[in-house]
Amino acid sequence: MQHLILDLNRIIYNQLNPEATTTLIFIGGIHGNEPAGIYGLQKVIKSIRENDIQLRCNFYALAGNLNAIQKNIRYETSDLNRLWTRENIQKIKSKTTFGSQEEKEQSELYNCIENILNSHTGTFIFIDLHTTSAETIPFVTISDSLLNRQFVSNFKLPIILGIEEYLDGPLLTYINEFGHIALGFEAGQHEDPKAVENCEAFIWQTLLASNAVDKRNIEHREFYKQTLSKDSLSTDFYEISDRYHLKKGEHFTMNAGFKNFDSVKKSQKLATSNEEAIKASVSGKIFMPLYQSQGDDGFFIITKISVFWLQLSSVFRKLKLHHILRVLPGVQQDKKNANALFVNPKIAAFLTTKIFHLFGYRKKVIKTGVWYFIKRD
Ligand SMILES: [Zn+2]
Repeated sequence: MQHLILDLNRIIYNQLNPEATTTLIFIGGIHGNEPAGIYGLQKVIKSIRENDIQLRCNFYALAGNLNAIQKNIRYETSDLNRLWTRENIQKIKSKTTFGSQEEKEQSELYNCIENILNSHTGTFIFIDLHTTSAETIPFVTISDSLLNRQFVSNFKLPIILGIEEYLDGPLLTYINEFGHIALGFEAGQHEDPKAVENCEAFIWQTLLASNAVDKRNIEHREFYKQTLSKDSLSTDFYEISDRYHLKKGEHFTMNAGFKNFDSVKKSQKLATSNEEAIKASVSGKIFMPLYQSQGDDGFFIITKISVFWLQLSSVFRKLKLHHILRVLPGVQQDKKNANALFVNPKIAAFLTTKIFHLFGYRKKVIKTGVWYFIKRD
């Protein structure tokens, strides 16, 4: 793949439609060493321009970490996709000079997104385009809200729920908290030209799913359709069952040869850390094994979620049964946020994280001994 992306603007392209009730926002290259999203967007934009396609939506293509994209590095001093906490955003809002390149990038991207949100009404759909260091089939990551679930039902791809519980400050979690639809698309391995094709296919499928474009407008439609729906894992939902998080200065080496979604057995040796073997704590599928020097997560292990659980949780949420949780011992509502709960795991030992997931909450540990759960819907 070529690497020089010159003269890239924060807004790569936009098309506005005063009658639109949906606004689609695509972001490519929030990790600078993942250019496939940018190339995919550029190809779709070229086709929109050449064929003079009038979209039935507002359409924005944004570039993530401009500096890192030019240098083909994940980031310069900090990961731009780990900075989107409320505290950080409060800080950058008032700043005009910045401590790092990524702070500056975040401030620009934040202002750009704010502007878009303030300029339109209706439904907002955010798509964050990524690639992985390991070989992988394409997949989607979402925060488990019913709106997100409904939107991903348009795609024939494996869906990973709840990865945001393990990551500090990804952009999409911030967006999700405003109730917008937000999904991450992982298109393939960083350097694989197929990742660009997968991005293109996914962007067109998102436009179709949002009813923003007619099928007949899409060149090579059959090709794109087949590109993304040829894998047997398609449409399965997965959750994170284990994660190996790297400590500062840790010398971590993933065992060679793992592809994303490869099956692993409990106790199987997966990696080495400071000369010691790291083994799988559960059986499942290996997810996002780390084969690059930058990054904090060595690997995840994911397991399939049953259709029964998915349907049950959907019914619980539609019936708004989450109120039941608040009257249980050890559970308290946050007085400042009606959508959040404090849980003392010692008193509420009978309540597992899985039960909170069932009712549509995600876990965020605030300090030792107390869990904090935020409602996703
Ligand atoms: Zn990424």
